[in-house]
Amino acid sequence: MSTNDYPGDIPATEFREAMHRTADMLADYLENVGEYRVVPKVSPGDVRRQLPAEPPTQPEPLGQILDDYKRLIEPNTTHWNHPGFMAYFGITGSGPGIIGEALSAGLNLNAMLWRTGPAATELEELVCDWLRQMIGLPETFRGHINDTASIASLICMAAARHRLPEHDIRNRGMAGRDDLPTLTVYASEHAHSSIDKAAITLGIGLNNLRRICVDDEFRMDVEALEAAVSADRTAGRRPVCVVATVGTTSTTSVDPLGPIAEVCQREGMWLHVDAAYAGSAAICPEYRALMPGLDQADSIVLNPHKWLFTPVDCSVLLVRDAELVKGAFSVVPEYLRTEDAGVTNLMDYGVQLGRRFRALKLWMVIRAFGVKGLQERIRYHCALGREFAEWVAAEPGFELCAPVPFSTVCFRAVPDLPPEEQDRFSERLLAEVNAPGPIFLSHTKLRGRYVLRLTVGNLRTTREHVERAWELIRTGSARLWAG
Ligand code: PLP
Repeated sequence: MSTNDYPGDIPATEFREAMHRTADMLADYLENVGEYRVVPKVSPGDVRRQLPAEPPTQPEPLGQILDDYKRLIEPNTTHWNHPGFMAYFGITGSGPGIIGEALSAGLNLNAMLWRTGPAATELEELVCDWLRQMIGLPETFRGHINDTASIASLICMAAARHRLPEHDIRNRGMAGRDDLPTLTVYASEHAHSSIDKAAITLGIGLNNLRRICVDDEFRMDVEALEAAVSADRTAGRRPVCVVATVGTTSTTSVDPLGPIAEVCQREGMWLHVDAAYAGSAAICPEYRALMPGLDQADSIVLNPHKWLFTPVDCSVLLVRDAELVKGAFSVVPEYLRTEDAGVTNLMDYGVQLGRRFRALKLWMVIRAFGVKGLQERIRYHCALGREFAEWVAAEPGFELCAPVPFSTVCFRAVPDLPPEEQDRFSERLLAEVNAPGPIFLSHTKLRGRYVLRLTVGNLRTTREHVERAWELIRTGSARLWAG
């Protein structure tokens, strides 16, 4: 090939045509996603077997690739956009969010520095500040966007460690130091596994992550926290950080932030709040009221990609003293030095250098739905969750297993059987409910007992879908009991 024949990207006409078709395919998909099974009937290896093992040598027409997408990929996907998806915590790609994601792919910029993405940097600062206002935090909080809450929590635990200047861990590290006390971190036994992973990654170690017991409603027991901190102090260890959860993964319980904040103040510990799921509900004043003390945190993470209808990934971290995070992470080699004064360089606030333009999709979502529209949707989801919980509570043979502060319901079947057989019954019931395809629930364990979990967080879920779920649960239970 001579340099005159360089082919470059595909021709603009071909791109335009394929994008128009993609828009149609996506619109059709979102309109009809409810007709799929939520979880496809595939076995491991089924998808891969249908695809060529070797890459194509010659170019293939985009139309043909899109045909294969429609035939092989879309149907073999677990449909998180499905209105019957009520497992884990829902995520929904809304129209505005998808458009934002597509535009950001088109720009394909890397906002590591303000200079390399002025609009992306400033929009990120702006939308995080919108979200700060929406959840009623003071102006001292500043935000940036990460891929996931897991990374946000890791960043905050590193910042908490950096707030111990006497130990200079940033420069001296932690290994082989006689002068460094063992650092300890505290989270409830219901905190998310991402906190364990952060402790592993930061070299704190799982043995130094104290899992604090919870009360009857699965909230961190503050007296137990105080006792654990005190025992660590007595043993010469250095308590560094408490991770409180607003909306724990199993039950969506809310740790008592005010009393925990007092302990943190007294003990010189960082308070990080993991509000990955329920933080979105804080945009409604009545749900914010369930989280008193939120404004006393040092940092809060919430995931618009969970419950603010923004496609994955988009996790907003709001920090009271962003300079501390910068102090923990900023490294500026010569090749990244710029002369721009008074700007934010987002690379300074975490581990990774490169970053996608995630703010665009969140900006589109907040504008296209408006705060009021987002509140309406969250309220509707919570109302559906509460209504489902009422049906369960009123039904003989079933019981609720935890309070329902938001839109997630933990429940189980309680047939007249010994506890282990009841657990086995609920496990089989879950399989029975998920088998036909229109509904997908998940499970957890509470106090060692098997529990089913239904969560409403999907933009397309309506009362009709929750009724369908309840119908499948009741008939499934009757069938199992009979047979
Ligand atoms: N924190 C809580 C309370 C969660 O429920 C989850 C996931 O469900 C996470 C953190 C992890 O979120 P991510 O996937 O954004 O890391």
